Amino acid sequence: MIFPLVSNEKTALTVKNFIKEQRIPHAILILGDGGVGKHTLADFLAKAIVCGKSDAPCDMCDNCRLADSKNHPDISTVAPEDDKKSIVISQIRELRQEAFVRPHKTLKKVFIIDKADTMNSASQNALLKVLEEPPEAVMFVLIAENKAAFLETIISRCVALNLTAPEFSKAAEYLSEKTKYSEEEIADALEKSQNNIGRALTLLKGKGSAKAELSAVEFLDFLYKNDQYNMLLTLNAFSKKRVEVDAFLKALKNEVTKRIKNDPKSQFAKPLLAFYNEIYGFEQALFTNINLNLFFSNMVCTAIQIFWRNK
Ligand SMILES: [Zn+2]
Repeated sequence: MIFPLVSNEKTALTVKNFIKEQRIPHAILILGDGGVGKHTLADFLAKAIVCGKSDAPCDMCDNCRLADSKNHPDISTVAPEDDKKSIVISQIRELRQEAFVRPHKTLKKVFIIDKADTMNSASQNALLKVLEEPPEAVMFVLIAENKAAFLETIISRCVALNLTAPEFSKAAEYLSEKTKYSEEEIADALEKSQNNIGRALTLLKGKGSAKAELSAVEFLDFLYKNDQYNMLLTLNAFSKKRVEVDAFLKALKNEVTKRIKNDPKSQFAKPLLAFYNEIYGFEQALFTNINLNLFFSNMVCTAIQIFWRNK
């Protein structure tokens, strides 16, 4: 078992003991600001429950894999529906019914209630009924930012786990291990987010996607001019950064679609469409661990061939 969060030693110890002693409480309330890892912890707990081994989650078994892919039949998430701001009472009633259905694949089912602090008191009271007399094989994980939004009775039924942002050095170490951003970029994002890793990642990715969009525009402009040299130069800016290449390909699809839509009668519409159909193949190739330099030259050759053949 590898605890997935940086710092938060007290919570980590509590959770590890729950798992080791196989006495995970039937209701846990995870509290903390956006970006501190509440969902990561909820997913970890859910995976540990469905895995069920003494060192859970083992990350090897069927249950762990299904949990990782968010397809485990015994893990469900309740959250405000698309167009609504809060979890409504009908969702809780449905959850209550499901709670009494036996687990499909494992010994316990897990209900993750995301943004639980958006429940009004009627919904909370509805939930309380099942928290007070929970079916044997069920566990609830509530995720919330605002503890004050809960009825006392809900809080008293849950074991609360508080998460906070780590200190700078640990957050920086984590991000440089897990991402490809430079030390300066990471330090800058952490300063702006007050060491909140989730928010720092949002800032870093935002920057990455701006770069991807700009490069997609450049790449197509060079393609229009049959300028292979500069197409390759544009791609080389992503060397050693597979994640960014992936973002670039997505941006490229968006840009191509945009150009076709904006001017469907243009001389470029047909070759653009032909090129668009090739991008999927590039995305697949990127997954195969292909050498990036080779990938870039292939991409330029294919783009030029397809584009000019259809012109
Ligand atoms: Zn497992």
